[in-house]
Amino acid sequence: MLKVYTAIEDNDIYKAHILIEDLVNKVWCKADNQQCKSKLTSELKDLYENQPWFEKHVRNIYRVCKNLNTNEKKAFKKAFKNNNRIEDLCEGVIKPVDLSTLDKELLKAIKPFFKKLYTQFLEWKTIRDKYGDKKNYYDSLNISNGFKECPCCGYGDLKTIYSKGRSAFDHYLPLKHYPFSSINFNNLVPICTTCNSDEKGEVDVLKKGKPIYYPFAKTHPKIEVIVDVKSKALKKLIEPTNDLKSKITKSEIIVDFNIKDDKTESWDRIFDIKSRYFGKIADNRVGWFKKVDQQYKNYKERINNYSVEDAFEDVIKADSNEHLGFLKVPYLNSLKLNTHLVKAIGEVSGSSIMNS
Ligand SMILES: [Zn+2]
Repeated sequence: MLKVYTAIEDNDIYKAHILIEDLVNKVWCKADNQQCKSKLTSELKDLYENQPWFEKHVRNIYRVCKNLNTNEKKAFKKAFKNNNRIEDLCEGVIKPVDLSTLDKELLKAIKPFFKKLYTQFLEWKTIRDKYGDKKNYYDSLNISNGFKECPCCGYGDLKTIYSKGRSAFDHYLPLKHYPFSSINFNNLVPICTTCNSDEKGEVDVLKKGKPIYYPFAKTHPKIEVIVDVKSKALKKLIEPTNDLKSKITKSEIIVDFNIKDDKTESWDRIFDIKSRYFGKIADNRVGWFKKVDQQYKNYKERINNYSVEDAFEDVIKADSNEHLGFLKVPYLNSLKLNTHLVKAIGEVSGSSIMNS
């Protein structure tokens, strides 16, 4: 994550998960010869009596749990609790419980239930009236954090309160591997479609056993992108790509980060960040260069001793906070270090700089 969200901890939507906690701990893990209904809290009973889908699944899982021994029930309870400690799992403080260690029949019964909690349960009117809906929570999170771009990659489009609909919530620990946290909002993060679907998909982000960034962490390091432009590729860098053979390669624009730790490496691996940043720079490099060239042309006559370095500096200063500025600035800083280029702009300041 380039940036993390500040959570709105008092939002009621967080409490919907408590209902499911009650279901696991007070109903299923206490299953005995008594009827399932007798163990339900009044709120759960209300859902049980009015939502046939809910009743069917709750009853079926209860039936499976009745046949579990004490240790198997304990294992279920522990797995649910453990795999919902999202921050601790991300930080690597605890390890996730592998669900294949749970009773097979239980697993078969609970997976479809938890999957549908996100798509169905949260949409029910009684739930929305009490806990609020996903879109309202999304908009509140959006307003309080003020992100217009995806905090994960830093540039992907993120819908705002003025857009139609909302961007998808990413199950940060994917539903396929961590179904218990399907409606745990510590695990539901609005990020762009490319980060969510194209890059991350259903990969088990904890599989490598290394810590990963927690999207709602209270502290987060300032990640800076470092770009190293290879001077031998200069001509290709400042002119548009004319054919596939003259494509810029990753050894010509090298992307790196100021921080080299497990979390940053995990972020890069899961979301293919360096590679995507390289692509964005390669796509935009000519326009960025031309802006510096134009800046120099515009000011060299008007300002005494205006240098090419000044033009670089002025563009860098003006554009650092614009869209993709966090990539443009390190790219131009690296380009500026190339004395041959700076000299050529100073002498010609024209379009065919490198041919002169
Ligand atoms: Zn993104």
